[in-house]
Amino acid sequence: MSELLRVENLRVSYHTYAGEAQAVRGVSFTADEGGTLAVVGESGCGKSVTARAIMGLIPVPPGEIKEDSHIWYEGKDILTFSKKEWQAFRGAECSIIFQDALASLNPTMKIGKQIAETVLLHHETDKMQAWREAEGMLGKVGISDPEKRMHQYPHEFSGGMRQRVMIAIALACGPRIVIADEPTTALDVTIQADIIELLKKLQSERHMTVILITHDLGIVADMADKIVVMYAGEVMEEGTDTDLFYHAKHPYTEALLKAVPRLDMGVQELAPIEGTPPDIVHPPEGCPFYERCSHAMRLCGYRRPPAYEFGEGHRARCWLYHPLAERGGE
Ligand code: SF4
Repeated sequence: MSELLRVENLRVSYHTYAGEAQAVRGVSFTADEGGTLAVVGESGCGKSVTARAIMGLIPVPPGEIKEDSHIWYEGKDILTFSKKEWQAFRGAECSIIFQDALASLNPTMKIGKQIAETVLLHHETDKMQAWREAEGMLGKVGISDPEKRMHQYPHEFSGGMRQRVMIAIALACGPRIVIADEPTTALDVTIQADIIELLKKLQSERHMTVILITHDLGIVADMADKIVVMYAGEVMEEGTDTDLFYHAKHPYTEALLKAVPRLDMGVQELAPIEGTPPDIVHPPEGCPFYERCSHAMRLCGYRRPPAYEFGEGHRARCWLYHPLAERGGE
């Protein structure tokens, strides 16, 4: 698969009363055309801030995208886009599905109008045609009787149906990249599975690139072909789904895997990750996972680990893989 989007050394801070919160600290990864990249980590690890940076949605101030941060798309650094270029990019090239459909939809506007407005924003068409396209889109995301549903308001839809509407809005202009930011978190488990299935189906039909942002490794297993694990604003490990699920190298990835049930592992005892992530206003000098890591060595506390390679595209940032470390070469 060829590369479509490259995030390179992305650093994003928020200026707060407590000081500069360094939400994203030197994050790099690539998303391939037609593939699914999952960005995984606990709440506050910087994954949603990364998604918002890709969409040009970091409010400045209080946010700040630091110098030497780049996001490459079609040979252009989108972080240098003008307002007009961002408008053309959002929706038509890249769109986002947020977690909270109820908060994202306008409660006073008919669903049909909300989808049709997105179509009108990016396609040269008239209102009638945009309405028809919106109705078609509503059917494609699995909402029955779309003709009638177009005239209803968000409160007349269930949580799962509202999330389907969000997907219809995100896909209305045929973007090449769709960012799904915790798309199923607010839903119950069976509806979550339906939404993931729908995303997978639409992705294969439309050959879209999906960037799935989630705290839940469980939903990633079925969908992602590449996974980036983030912690305290940094990438800890990246690799294919097989690399991460069967050959995880980083203690944080291992801890995440132990915290989710797995169908392929028989009966297991789930282990929550003890402790809390570090303060991002005063991030640690050494490994950010130091305080919670059961393998921590003295060096980890004061020196930031480099990224070690374990095969094409599989990297982990951990001192255990230094040739002189006890667990090196494992
Ligand atoms: Fe643990 Fe050290 Fe590796 Fe960090 S660098 S994950 S503290 S072993």
